[in-house]
Amino acid sequence: MNMLTTLQRIVQEVNRIPELDRALQYLVSTIKATLQVDSCSIYLANYDAQHHVLTATDGLSPDAVGTVCIGFSEGLIGLVGQREEPLNIQDAHHHPRFKHYPEVKEEKYNAFLGVPIIHQRRVLGILTMQQRDQRRFSADEEAFLVTLATQLALEIAHANMFGELMFSEAHATPTVAQVINGVPASTGLGLGRGYVPVLSADIEKVIHRKAHNVSEQIVLYRQAVDATRKEVAQLSSNLDESLPEDVKAIFVLYDQLLDANSLGREVEAQIKQDWDAATALKLVIQDYAARFKAMDDPYMQERAVDIVDLSNRILKHIMFDDSHTALPKGDLIVVAEELSPTLLAEFPQEHLKGIITIRGSQNSHAAILARAMGIPAVMGVSSILPNLLHNKTLFIDGYAGSITVSPSKAQENECAILIAEEDALYERIDAQKDLPTVTKDSHPMDLFVNAGLAAEQELKDNQNIMGVGLFRTEIPFMMRERFPSEDEQYAIYRGILQAHPEKPITMRTLDVGGDKPLPYFPIVEENPFLGWRGIRMTLDQPEIFLVQARAMIRASEELTNLQILLPMVSSLNEVREAKRLLQQAFYEVKEESNKNRTTLMMPKLGVMLEVPAAVHIMSQLAKDVDFFSVGTNDLTQYLLAVDRNNPRVSALYQSYHPAVLQVMQHIAEQAELLNKPVTVCGELAGDPAGALLLMAMGYTKLSMSAYNVRKINWVLRSVRLYSAQHLLSEVLNLSDPQVIKSHLDAYLESHQLGGLVRAGS
Ligand code: PEP
Ligand code: MG
Repeated sequence: MNMLTTLQRIVQEVNRIPELDRALQYLVSTIKATLQVDSCSIYLANYDAQHHVLTATDGLSPDAVGTVCIGFSEGLIGLVGQREEPLNIQDAHHHPRFKHYPEVKEEKYNAFLGVPIIHQRRVLGILTMQQRDQRRFSADEEAFLVTLATQLALEIAHANMFGELMFSEAHATPTVAQVINGVPASTGLGLGRGYVPVLSADIEKVIHRKAHNVSEQIVLYRQAVDATRKEVAQLSSNLDESLPEDVKAIFVLYDQLLDANSLGREVEAQIKQDWDAATALKLVIQDYAARFKAMDDPYMQERAVDIVDLSNRILKHIMFDDSHTALPKGDLIVVAEELSPTLLAEFPQEHLKGIITIRGSQNSHAAILARAMGIPAVMGVSSILPNLLHNKTLFIDGYAGSITVSPSKAQENECAILIAEEDALYERIDAQKDLPTVTKDSHPMDLFVNAGLAAEQELKDNQNIMGVGLFRTEIPFMMRERFPSEDEQYAIYRGILQAHPEKPITMRTLDVGGDKPLPYFPIVEENPFLGWRGIRMTLDQPEIFLVQARAMIRASEELTNLQILLPMVSSLNEVREAKRLLQQAFYEVKEESNKNRTTLMMPKLGVMLEVPAAVHIMSQLAKDVDFFSVGTNDLTQYLLAVDRNNPRVSALYQSYHPAVLQVMQHIAEQAELLNKPVTVCGELAGDPAGALLLMAMGYTKLSMSAYNVRKINWVLRSVRLYSAQHLLSEVLNLSDPQVIKSHLDAYLESHQLGGLVRAGS
C-alpha cells in the first residue's frame, strides 16, 4: 500500500472513532505497526498548565498516560514544541536536552523522532516515535509523521473547540464561558441569543460527547422520535396515493425504524453507555448505514441514504426544540455560514444586535454591509458550526473580533456596562453630527456617503453630507431574481438624483464578480478576484452596461448632479471602450429627450483607482476622465496579494501596511499634480485613524457609509491638521504594520478617541 493510501486510511479511521483519546490511541498503534517502530506516542499541550501531557502511547508505559506532564521548556518533547520543527536523533539519552521521566519507562529506546502538531501557528501537541536501535529515522519516516501531524492538527483543534460547545445551555455544567475568535469585521458590541436562520442537522457532523444524564437523554431521544414520527406521517399524507412503490417503501422503512423496538432499543443502549442522544444516534446510524451499504442488492445499498435522511430528521429534533423555526423574541445575534443582503433585509433590524459568519473577512462585502448598518460583526469564524451557537447567549465584540459563548451572570453584567458606555459615546457623537466637518485649526473636509442600501434618508437628515461618493449599484441587482429592467433601474437612480439635485451623486457601473455574486448570473472561477469582475464583465456584456448607462442618464434629465464611476479599471482601453458605450447611451437618450424638450448633460466620468496598474497610469487616465476615486479595499487586496474575503490571510490584510500608505500618498500627490479631483471611497476613509492619515496626505473628500459619517465628523473635529500631519510623518517612518497600528491607537487614545476602536469608554 502506498503512503498516501495508508495516510488516508489512518486519518479516516481516526475520524470515525468517537472520543479523541481513543482515536489517538488507535492512531499511535497503527503508526507503530505500519512503520514497524518500537514505540509511538502523542503528547497534548495544556496551555493553562504550560505542559504537554502524555495522551496516548503504544510502547511507553500505559500507566503514564494522563499522568506524565512535561513542561513546555523541558526535555526533548518541550524542545520540539519550542522549536516548532521535527527533532530526529539517534541517541536520545545523550542529547543535552534529554530529561529522564522514570514513569514512562523509555530507558530501552535510543532513536527518537518528535514532530510538532501545529494548528494556526499554535502547537497543540507532539507526535513521537522511538526505537531501540541507535539509528536516525529515515527521511521517508520523518515526512510521513510530519504529514500525519498536519492532518491531526485540525482534528484536535476541532475536538478542543467543540467539546464545550456541544452542551446546550440548559444541560451545561457551570463552566468557564468559551471565547471564540474570528476576524473583527464591524466594530461595536452586542449581547443577545444566537439565532441560525437556516438550521440544519447533519448526523455526519455530530461530535461525539458523553452526557452522564441517561434518563434525560432518553427522554430527549424519545421526544425527538415522536416529533419525527408526526413529521413523517404528515409528509406521507401530503403525498399522492399514486406514488411509485419504492417511494412508499421508504415510508414503511421509516416507520419500522422509528419503532421503539428497532432503532430505539439500540440508541437507548448507547445512551446507557453515557453517550448523549445525538452521539448515540450517530453511532447506531453509522452502523446501520454501513450494513446496508455492504449488501449485494443495489436497491438495499441505496437505502443507506434514507437511513441517514431519517436520522437527520431525528437529530434536528434532538438539537432544536420546536420553537426554533419561529423568530425568537428579544435581542438576537445572527449566526450564518455567509451573510447576504437578502438575509439582512428579512431580519427585524431593531432586534439584530450582531452578526457572526463562518466565511468572510474584514473587507468582504458582507462586512462592509454590516458596517454600513452599524451592526457589530465577527467573521471568518471557521472553527465553529453555526448550529452550536443557536439559542445560546452570546456577547460579540466587533472591535476585538471575539465572541463569548454563554457568559456568566457577572460577565453579562460587565458586557451590559460596556454596551451602555458605547451607547453614551454615540449619543454624544450624534448630538454633534450636524456641526461642520472642520478640524480644530479650521481645515475643512468634505464627507460623502457610500450608498446602495438606504442612503437617501441619511442624506436628507444630515446637511453635512456633501453627496454620494459611491453608489454601489450592484446591491439592488443582488436583491433581485433577474437583472433589473431599464425602467426599474431608472426608478432607483431617479429617486436619488432628484432627491438631492444640488449634491453630486456618483454612481458606479455594475461591479459584480469577486465576492458579489448575482444569484441569476453565476460566475464560477478559480480566482474570482482576479477574474471576470466589474468593468471586465460589463464590457464583455455591453447589453448590460448599455441598459444601466441609459437608465442612469435618463434619470439625470433636467438635472446636473450625476457622475459615473467605472470599477476595476486596469487599462486606458477599458476607459475608452466604456466611454464609447456611455456616449452611445447618451445620444440615444438625448434623441428621446430632444423630442420631449428636456435638457440632458453628459455626466462627469471617473475611474476607481483600485487596481495597482491604474495608479501607475494616472497621468494617461487623467486625459480621459474628470475625477478619480480610490477604492482602498481592492487596492489593499491587490497591492498586498491578500484576498479580502479569505479569513485565513486576514491578518495579512493590513490597511496601514507601509506599501498601502505610500501608494495612498503617491495618489494624492499625483492627483494634485494632474489637477484632478480625487475622493477616497474605500473603507479606510471611514476608519478613524485612516481618515486622519488621508487628511494629512492631502485628501479633502472622503466617502464612507452613512453610519460612519457622524463618527468621522467627530474624529476630524477633535484634531488639528498639523498634528495629523505630524502623525503621518511619524507613521511613514515605521516599517511594521503592527507597530503602526499601535502608534495610531495611542494617538486616538491621547485625543479621547479610543472608544471608537475598542470596547469601553
Ligand atoms: C473598494 O474596492 O475600495 C471599493 C470601494 O469598492 P468595493 O468595496 O465595492 O469593491
Ligand atoms: Mg472595489
